[in-house]
Amino acid sequence: MRKKPAARRICAVCGRDFPAREVVGAALVHPPILQRMQAEKPEVGPESFICRDDLARHRAAHVRDILESERGELTSLEREVVESLQRHEMLASDPDSEAEQRWSFGERVADRIASFGGSWPFIFLFAAFAATWIALNSLGGRWAPLDPFPYILLNLLLSCLAAVQAPVIMMSQNRQAAKDRMAAALDYEVNLKSELSIAELHTKLDRLQARLGAGEADIRTGDGAPPAAAERQERELVDA
Ligand SMILES: [Zn+2]
Repeated sequence: MRKKPAARRICAVCGRDFPAREVVGAALVHPPILQRMQAEKPEVGPESFICRDDLARHRAAHVRDILESERGELTSLEREVVESLQRHEMLASDPDSEAEQRWSFGERVADRIASFGGSWPFIFLFAAFAATWIALNSLGGRWAPLDPFPYILLNLLLSCLAAVQAPVIMMSQNRQAAKDRMAAALDYEVNLKSELSIAELHTKLDRLQARLGAGEADIRTGDGAPPAAAERQERELVDA
């Protein structure tokens, strides 16, 4: 028995030919988005089919319009969110690894030094070093001590260490602040995208519910599934 050739549909917006499972019936498209498509292509009607690329593009334009009407000119962050919605990309990323890629070698070394300089091992090591220095230079012996009491050379070393340590700590703090700002921006992006996606899901579910309520069982799924199966699928979706 020969396999039936897969059904194909023409996208009403771009006019290209797609396998039936890659297009959506215009009746299932959110009405404001359908209106946008009709503004671009007046021949798009409720019986037409739309490819996913065009649907995503018009949906992103619709979201951009809503955002712009609520907050005015979009920031670059918000534009990025809208674009990622259009491309179906993941936006969430780890701010630590992202920051790691952005910093130079010197900046990373400063971080390490600052974290070691602010730890108990450093204090113990330094106390041990100072005690040894004082002990060696206080012992009377056959040789003259390099730095006798009041240990002026040790004082000089301590001052130099303090003078270098302060800028290193400040560098590290500046970068920590930059990292925090980056993490906050990422959080905002992900939150905004989640909010938009959830709003979109709500609209979809509301439309599905309305159609079920009206008793319409002839939903076109595009892949030729019988209406009863389509309805069952929808009911599962709404109950979930
Ligand atoms: Zn298309």
